[in-house]
Amino acid sequence: MKILVINCGSSSLKYQLIDSEAEQVLAKGLCERIGIEGSMFTYQKAGCDKVVTQIDQPDHKKSISIVLEALTNKENGVIADLSEIGAVGHRLVHGGEEFAASTLITDEVIKVVESCNDLAPLHNPANIIGVNACRELMPETPMVGVFDTAFHQTMPAEAFIYGIPYEYYKKDKVRKYGFHGTSHAFVSKRTAEILGLDYDKAKIIVCHLGNGASICAVDGGKSVETSMGLTPLMGLVMGTRSGEIDPGVMEYLGKKENMSFEEIMTMLNKKSGILGISGISSDFRDIDAAIEDGNEQAKLAKDVFVHRVASYVGAYIAVMNGVDAIVFTAGVGENDPGARAEIIEHFGYVGAYIDAEKNNVRGKEAVISTDDSKVKVLLVPTNEELMIARDTKAIVDGLNK
Ligand code: ADP
Repeated sequence: MKILVINCGSSSLKYQLIDSEAEQVLAKGLCERIGIEGSMFTYQKAGCDKVVTQIDQPDHKKSISIVLEALTNKENGVIADLSEIGAVGHRLVHGGEEFAASTLITDEVIKVVESCNDLAPLHNPANIIGVNACRELMPETPMVGVFDTAFHQTMPAEAFIYGIPYEYYKKDKVRKYGFHGTSHAFVSKRTAEILGLDYDKAKIIVCHLGNGASICAVDGGKSVETSMGLTPLMGLVMGTRSGEIDPGVMEYLGKKENMSFEEIMTMLNKKSGILGISGISSDFRDIDAAIEDGNEQAKLAKDVFVHRVASYVGAYIAVMNGVDAIVFTAGVGENDPGARAEIIEHFGYVGAYIDAEKNNVRGKEAVISTDDSKVKVLLVPTNEELMIARDTKAIVDGLNK
């Protein structure tokens, strides 16, 4: 079955057409600046160069119609007509406590996702716009929603309840939800396969270190702890997000700098993290270059990042009372051997040791610990789109039974 995977944001849309039997990408690309002047469309057929064109995209429906046109285009397309697309898999960010697994999208499901909009005001409404645009253009094609939060619904209450009055959980659903669930699920499962471990018994810590970053403790195939919270602002120091801070900072700065809540939230989401500490960039490549040039603030940003990751990994070893494997994924995790080595240096006490030569690898699956390392350390590139395609196929296959 050919599955179209859609990841729709407020002004951008990423897509991949995946052959789910061969698990191969047939074509992929990106719509950018949707609803903004100068919209761009990128299309890349497998094995060919990217084609970038400027095409007006006043709304998401137009963007999706351009994607469908490109996929069926006589010269450069990969399918003859839309009936070849067996299903569409949508990345949906927040499913609250309503969705612990991927689900067939119905009118009822859309209503429930909408009820979670307050929890993810930047993401959920945009995701739903993408779903509705696809449903209009492909009314007969089954659509499946795959939630970033779903994998973490197995967390026990002691991990997800905040230390604030319980009524705010009951009334307003304030709790830890966690994100990047599709990536944590994919990477932890793949890790068990690579190491020949029984996934239902293994203790795996996944470090998803990208521009947004989170860590997940996966015990017996289930998320039992993760570093993001009610929102993706919590936990690690990220590209531009602060991660964990004392909530008292907000009132203190609000008064001292005369900042509104909105200004404080913008500062914490967009001007903090690696960018905020270094004063240079949110991109680790720029930070590494600045460190080479002797920039101390860049060095501090990286040290804070590594320290925070190590603190969480250490905590999660305690949560699971042990660990079989620590895995790195996403932009930084897949491409920065230096950061991986510095993080793992903290875990000699559990018997985790990096092999410098094996660690000199980027963007491909590898065991990077020494042969005698008791705890295995791995690099496993994430593939959220493939995971979405797999879930979509499983649900659509179930319908046809
Ligand atoms: P997201 O999906 O959250 O936007 P990614 O997983 O694509 O993020 O990660 C993006 C980040 O990965 C970049 O900001 C950059 O800091 C980091 N990155 C990418 N390539 C490298 C590299 N070669 N060395 C160090 N960091 C890298």
